[in-house]
Amino acid sequence: MKDVQHLFPSEDGNQFEQVTFLSYIEKVIMAIDSSKDPNKSTLGPILEKSDDFYKDIIENEKTPNTGLEMDLVLDELIKLTKGHPYHTRNFVTNVLPMASIPGIIGNLTNTLLNGNNLWDVYGPAAAETEVKVITMMSKLVGYDHTKSWGYTTWGGQGAVFSGLRVAVAKQFPKAKEEGVPNNLYCFASENAHYSLLKSVEAVGIGSNHLIRVKAGKDHSMDMEDLQMKLEETINNGGIPVYIVATTGTTDCFGIDDVQSVKAITTKMEKKYNLKPIHIHADSALGGFYSLFREYDFIQNPLAFEEDVLKALSAINERMQYLYVADSLCFDFQKLGQTPYLTSLFLVKNGSDLGLLDLEEFETPYVGNRGYGSYHTGYTLECSRMGSSIAIYAALLSFGVEGYQQILANYVRVNLAFRKKLAARIPNMSITNSENIGPITTIRIYEDGANWELELNGEATHEQIQKTNDLNYELFEILGEHREEVFFGDTKRQCLVDAVNSDERFPIYAAKFFSISPYTEVEHLDHIVQAFENAVERMEKKETVYVL
Ligand SMILES: *Cc1c(COP(=O)(O)O)cnc(C)c1O
Repeated sequence: MKDVQHLFPSEDGNQFEQVTFLSYIEKVIMAIDSSKDPNKSTLGPILEKSDDFYKDIIENEKTPNTGLEMDLVLDELIKLTKGHPYHTRNFVTNVLPMASIPGIIGNLTNTLLNGNNLWDVYGPAAAETEVKVITMMSKLVGYDHTKSWGYTTWGGQGAVFSGLRVAVAKQFPKAKEEGVPNNLYCFASENAHYSLLKSVEAVGIGSNHLIRVKAGKDHSMDMEDLQMKLEETINNGGIPVYIVATTGTTDCFGIDDVQSVKAITTKMEKKYNLKPIHIHADSALGGFYSLFREYDFIQNPLAFEEDVLKALSAINERMQYLYVADSLCFDFQKLGQTPYLTSLFLVKNGSDLGLLDLEEFETPYVGNRGYGSYHTGYTLECSRMGSSIAIYAALLSFGVEGYQQILANYVRVNLAFRKKLAARIPNMSITNSENIGPITTIRIYEDGANWELELNGEATHEQIQKTNDLNYELFEILGEHREEVFFGDTKRQCLVDAVNSDERFPIYAAKFFSISPYTEVEHLDHIVQAFENAVERMEKKETVYVL
């Protein structure tokens, strides 16, 4: 037994084991630090993987019969860090954030206690912080904190799914026992995240009952199309249960207008005598910008530059109304600067969650005792990690102003990036110029094709496809050189009409996603040069500048 006991943190807090344990942590941190290079986007060179890489693992890997010494285990773990993507100034690929120190330490605290967030008797720390972060975020977003409720869950995806469960339960409280009726419909923008698609499949509504609403030129949901599709559905005997308004699309930061969605559903409910249709703001990505809701844009206490202030104010025009939604999400693992998985699902009317709760009889070993008063029987998970501890630590450390500064910097960097890029590469367009935020999408053109034509539905689908192919080539080259600057890309930034087809067609675009706290305006010349080099490589011109 002694052999395996030393694999655990000590029982008595003795100093010898404490120092040993700390030395393991130190070794991992030191190894990662020794591979860091701000001019790269990886921890040392990317390790080339052979085509048989995973096949070899499957054939050869097995559990050791006798356990390895911790030093050897650490060596193996350190090997895994080699060549790993790392969030330096040159890491601009996607919403893949760096975990902040408070987030990491919060998570470590959670891991050391290893409480179970299912019940406060087993996980009192996580229960307490969960209630704290629900309250803190409810107040920031403008929910009535005495009525709202929520929980941490498995990503923005989990929040979209949880919202759907609530939506169905509100209109059909018996669906839990009897199953969902076969005429329920959900609505979202054609630019929405695929979370809703998976959710309607999983709940049994069926993906044919997911109605995609067209998006306009600013990549947000077209309200006329929403109203038309709602009426059409209702007139055909369908029941709308759930509308997802994406407040910050993952690919280009289009922001759906939650207030108008609410106005339309209210009108439909009255006109057709419907039960309330649940609106979920999929604010997984963009929700953090609602932290500017109470920013004084006149006094400008954080002294943002004029163009940054103007852009933030434009974002705030829509983000300040997030509270109109019946539920929403803060994906702390995205712009909240905490490690995976730390997502918070909030419900405006907390008592709605009661509709999802299990009966006492169904949970024989937890909850409903004289002791313990916090039992999350309404979550889809049973055991839950106490991820609110990391969220809590981050909220305490950053404070509203810390978040405002980092969120404003993403905007600042994007504004400057757009200016620099436009001045240097003529045959490309920024395809989300109406959306300012952390993302810029860039599309390359040849032979007279251009974004204006595509956006206005005046390009042929052959032209669109040809430009997509061209951009795909660019993705490959950008990807090959990702060790220098790690750009992102998307094969469906948005959809556009074609002049010779009834279908809408996806737009491929490269992405600049400012996500590292270390990417600042002064690093952009290097990043633009890297992009330009990739375009030149694609055009098979000689590269003038060597990175
Ligand atoms: C990222 C994202 C999701 C999914 O979130 P996960 O945390 O990856 O599950 C859902 N919706 C939007 C708008 C997103 O940006």
